[in-house]
Amino acid sequence: MSSCAARSNDALVLSSDPIHPANLICEFCRLFYQNGWVTGTGGGISIRDDDKIYLAPSGVQKERMLPENIFVMSFKTQEYIRKPLSLKPSACTPLFMAAYSKRNAGACIHTHSQNAVMCTLLFDEVFEISSIEQIKALPRITRPGNMWYSDKLVIPIIENTEREEELESSLRVAIEKYPSATAVLVRRHGIYVWGETTWKAKIYNEAIDYLLELAIKMKQMGIPTVKKV
Ligand SMILES: [Zn+2]
Repeated sequence: MSSCAARSNDALVLSSDPIHPANLICEFCRLFYQNGWVTGTGGGISIRDDDKIYLAPSGVQKERMLPENIFVMSFKTQEYIRKPLSLKPSACTPLFMAAYSKRNAGACIHTHSQNAVMCTLLFDEVFEISSIEQIKALPRITRPGNMWYSDKLVIPIIENTEREEELESSLRVAIEKYPSATAVLVRRHGIYVWGETTWKAKIYNEAIDYLLELAIKMKQMGIPTVKKV
């Protein structure tokens, strides 16, 4: 597709269907902004619909995101099939593509949640927590169904880089090293969370943030985050 056609492909993002990916990205951006996860244009959201990858752009205030701001990329060709004029693609794009290709994800969320940042300062190589009811909202990749209450949630932590796109190689390594993980924390930066569907990615992101916040409080009180059995 020519770059001119890619720019004008509005039909890909303009829909009256509230669960169209372009509309959902805008809804999630507003929700996550209210939670303080994507303030100051930080963070990013992407949804995959078969070959189409919908991506929130860089530099747009998340609470003011509009469907016409959304980029669309072909998964197969890795080329943009819709590129809004005057907007820049998100630097998170190669990281989202890693989650799509390595985990067959349906959506990927990146936030600058303070709970995520704090946990990367309190934990070393991995974030760990066990025996908390909320863990049951998360998937257990190694067998069907979700985790159990007493399971241990492990999220790898990778080191931050000066440019977001430079995180791609270490994110790919972490995804391979921790096949059960549905998220990767980035030191002093935030978190990437993915799921099989849009709704699952949203639920996992919320459940993980709850557990990150709880872990900070447990650490403050001197309570181990992993319960001895
Ligand atoms: Zn970021």
